[in-house]
Amino acid sequence: MPDNSKPSSQGFSTRAIRVGQEFDPTTGAVVPPVYLTSTFVQDGIGGFRGGYEYARGGNPTRTSLQTLLASLEGGAHAFSFASGLAAEDSLLRAILKPGERVVMGNDVYGGTHRLVNRVFVPWGVGLVTVDMSDLDAVRDAVAASSTHVLWIETPSNPLMKISDIAALAQIGHDAGALVVVDNTFASPYLQQPLSLGADVVVHSTTKYIGGHSDVLGGAVILNDDELAEKVGFLQFGVGAVSGPFDAWLTVRGIKTLALRMERHSSNAQAMAEALVGHPALDAVYYPGLPDHPGHDVAAKQMSAFGGMLSVALKGGSVAARKFAESTELFQLAESLGGVESLIGYPSEMTHASVKGTALEVPDNVVRLSVGIEDEADLLADVLGALPKS
Ligand SMILES: *Cc1c(COP(=O)(O)O)cnc(C)c1O
Repeated sequence: MPDNSKPSSQGFSTRAIRVGQEFDPTTGAVVPPVYLTSTFVQDGIGGFRGGYEYARGGNPTRTSLQTLLASLEGGAHAFSFASGLAAEDSLLRAILKPGERVVMGNDVYGGTHRLVNRVFVPWGVGLVTVDMSDLDAVRDAVAASSTHVLWIETPSNPLMKISDIAALAQIGHDAGALVVVDNTFASPYLQQPLSLGADVVVHSTTKYIGGHSDVLGGAVILNDDELAEKVGFLQFGVGAVSGPFDAWLTVRGIKTLALRMERHSSNAQAMAEALVGHPALDAVYYPGLPDHPGHDVAAKQMSAFGGMLSVALKGGSVAARKFAESTELFQLAESLGGVESLIGYPSEMTHASVKGTALEVPDNVVRLSVGIEDEADLLADVLGALPKS
């Protein structure tokens, strides 16, 4: 298997297209084939060709994706899974035991909160949520009792709060915690948490990494060999692996990740600037706006501000719902990060499960996943759908 323990000197786009993508040695096919096979012939008992035995343990298409993801995040090891939550589940099983405690952002992805709160807490794990963008609050939360995992997600969903990864990694490490960053919203093109001091990166590759809304997937990327062995064991021993075709589609998406993220970011920046001060809006949440409270930290740790933005409507939930149902290019759907623009109403969609709790999202907020269509068309669609006051 390829050795990806050494950092490559090649640029991001070159690696996105070449790492783990060696042409097929038997036919010369430029694009490595999808290995749709569950098992591998042995040359005599235990005589494995290329190390492959049974596809839950390893499949060349999955290896190709994992090698690529490790390179892009600057990690020594990557493991891919059937979904983002499957990746998180295997990671959490590898790093937590009953009696230990997780401190996580109070605005993490709802499914992450649900996984910990409904699966790990009943199993005996402690959970504390805190405003991750407030370093003093995190220091207090971490100091209150021993903390084993500090779980960060930045930019967060849907209010695009920014957490300072380097400062939080320091706080986490001082307390002896493992520092995990969910890097789904930024993608490794815009932000590389391992280089900022985090121990582990997780992804829902369903979003920007896959990028075309046609495949589910997740990944765990890290440097520590001992922890990698535990995660690798759970990938094999629990078995929530990505299938070969899913891995292949994800690799195909990654080849254009850099171009897509640049276009997502420039379209979203233009959208945010066009919406600031709009008479129908109370607020525009986008870290690329200079008066966003996390702008300076985002500018320090991200190379651009990404494709996600939210707005709060003056007309409350009635106006917000109407807006979310009135755009045409922005299709009303869950999820984000695909080439096509999507619109969502978090309080009834992505964040319905936290309604009535402290994690509730205001009911006048609408979230936009700004795609890579033409900027002018996207602006016209959104401006045309907002209430005229
Ligand atoms: C979607 C998402 C997840 C979960 O990933 P799935 O692929 O849907 O399982 C986790 N974190 C973030 C930030 C997400 O957006």
